Amino acid sequence: MLRIGISGVAGRMGKMVLAQVIEATDFKLACAVEAATHPSVGRDVSLLIGGSSVGVVVSSDVEQLVTHSDVVIDFTAPWVTCSLARACAHARKALVSGTTGLTDDDQRVLQTCANDSPIVYAPNMSVGVNLLLDLVAHAANQLGPEYDIEIVEAHHRMKKDAPSGTALKLAEVIAEATASQGTLQARGVYGREGIVGVRPSAEIGIHAVRGGDIVGEHTVYFCTDGERIEITHRASRRETFARGAVRAARWIHGKPAGLYSMRNVLGLS
Ligand code: NAD
Repeated sequence: MLRIGISGVAGRMGKMVLAQVIEATDFKLACAVEAATHPSVGRDVSLLIGGSSVGVVVSSDVEQLVTHSDVVIDFTAPWVTCSLARACAHARKALVSGTTGLTDDDQRVLQTCANDSPIVYAPNMSVGVNLLLDLVAHAANQLGPEYDIEIVEAHHRMKKDAPSGTALKLAEVIAEATASQGTLQARGVYGREGIVGVRPSAEIGIHAVRGGDIVGEHTVYFCTDGERIEITHRASRRETFARGAVRAARWIHGKPAGLYSMRNVLGLS
């Protein structure tokens, strides 16, 4: 049995992961952690999702989480993910994290920690989005500079970071696939306002919609005179991401230290 620890267990994603870990016959829930101030700390995890007790009480002890788990699954906030990655690296334990909003410095922390332990980091754990990354890279490469590229993402009102990690990843793979037009840093435009003038053809527009309970939608537009292609992914349930995280946890167990993506997990690269 693979011993799984969950960081951020009372969050929207944490609860989804918890339900799937409890349901899986090859997993044992080893530990579940929340912020020290969270009201769930000290209470049975089963109270978060209903159902009968599995004998695990929510804790805020990261050391206990890392010690008792073979793989830790994390959906929290960037600073939490970075300190958890350090703890996992120190203990040589595997980490699967889907937390978004990581800065370049945070990404470097993961890269460094991955020298000592295996880490799967993916801003989107769904199979569909990871295939979408391939599709848009191919389209951008084939269509060429005559097609203007815009990315529009939509998420629920509670989402803290914008644009989404997935929108940024889409922009990154598009920029790589059309590298002759310049870097993402030079071409990325994050929303528009005022007299912005004629659109330069190399621009990659990235726009965020926030509202209601939208789980996650991403559309990439390829527009030219006389036609446009729209490639859309819509996530309708958070279980999609949790299933990806559980799949990543099974995959990463026993892997050598290194930083892996969901594409590695899915065998797409
Ligand atoms: P959420 O706010 O509902 O949950 C985050 C949880 O982390 C909260 O319960 C919070 O109390 C907890 N937390 C805060 N500090 C902590 C600490 N020190 N230790 C342990 N837990 C702590 O948010 P969410 O919707 O579940 O999303 C969490 C993250 O996952 C966000 O960055 C979101 O963008 C990302 N996300 C990623 C994917 C993906 O597929 N990669 C999918 C959905 C959401």
